[in-house]
Amino acid sequence: MASPALLMRVVASAYSVAEKAATIVRSVMSTGDLGIVEKAGPNDLQTKADRLVQMSICASLARKFPKVTIIGEEDLPTDDVTEELIEDGHCEEILKKPCPAQYTGIKEEELVIWVDPLDGTKEYTEGLLDHVTVLIGIAYGGKAIAGVINQPYYNYEAGAGAVLGRTIWGVLGIGAFGFQLTEAPAGKHIIVTTRSHSSALVNECISALNPDTVIRAGGAGNKVIQLIEGKASAYVFASPGCKKWDTCAPEAILRAVGGKITDIRGNSFQYNKEVKHMNSAGVLATLRNYDYYASRIPNTVKESLVP
Ligand code: AMP
Ligand code: MG
Ligand code: MG
Repeated sequence: MASPALLMRVVASAYSVAEKAATIVRSVMSTGDLGIVEKAGPNDLQTKADRLVQMSICASLARKFPKVTIIGEEDLPTDDVTEELIEDGHCEEILKKPCPAQYTGIKEEELVIWVDPLDGTKEYTEGLLDHVTVLIGIAYGGKAIAGVINQPYYNYEAGAGAVLGRTIWGVLGIGAFGFQLTEAPAGKHIIVTTRSHSSALVNECISALNPDTVIRAGGAGNKVIQLIEGKASAYVFASPGCKKWDTCAPEAILRAVGGKITDIRGNSFQYNKEVKHMNSAGVLATLRNYDYYASRIPNTVKESLVP
């Protein structure tokens, strides 16, 4: 049999690399010393886990796929990463899936990997552990085509004996795995939005959608998981602040199961390596009924957000 296509090998490796990342996220927390650094301010934090995980993911993937462009959230050196942070494994089950025909010829130079080593850092520092995810998004031709989301503390409230953590992965044209796809309650408008980066505009936009319920939760990865597990019907964030590494992996997984994600004005996100990192015009994502939410966003809100 021919060796698996590059895309499938990258996803299979990203799966194992994300599992290693989750062990680092949990072990840093268990030491009790998070090593918190403020980046832009008190709502933009970096911990020792963000740093170690980024080095682990970027160095592990770069070693296996040296010509792939890898863009991580944290501004850190990529050389001199200690051997114990390197993950060399891959998920066999992913390698067994056939690569969609349109992706079989992809070369390393054509892929861009967007890495958020720890999404939901603010919540991590506050002990809201199930909001935290590790995001590895894979882009080709400027589009998010595959992604891995690891949730290191999935099940943590289930107590001892429950298996802690899970890995969700997906590829456009194959589907997404590692969770149970669930529809949100019919006829209800359950909006999930930011917990720690709110603003008057964020709230104005949500009010205009007449929600039955508003869930305030950390992390872009976590919010997209809420969409695909039927806990929320739309992820609405009318603010700049979210970056390409926040949306790439969630976008691929959401689209792999038929969902849609754009900025608040309806523009799709681009993920080529030259693109601006900031998603300046916010985020609107749904599993179903995208048009319903998009059509109710006020023009005044759209005009306040410049892409
Ligand atoms: P949130 O929904 O607030 O958890 O945000 C989702 C992602 O976007 C997280 O990675 C946040 O750190 C990032 N983010 C959103 N708004 C801001 C902001 N104002 N400053 C820094 N990061 C932000
Ligand atoms: Mg993030
Ligand atoms: Mg992060």
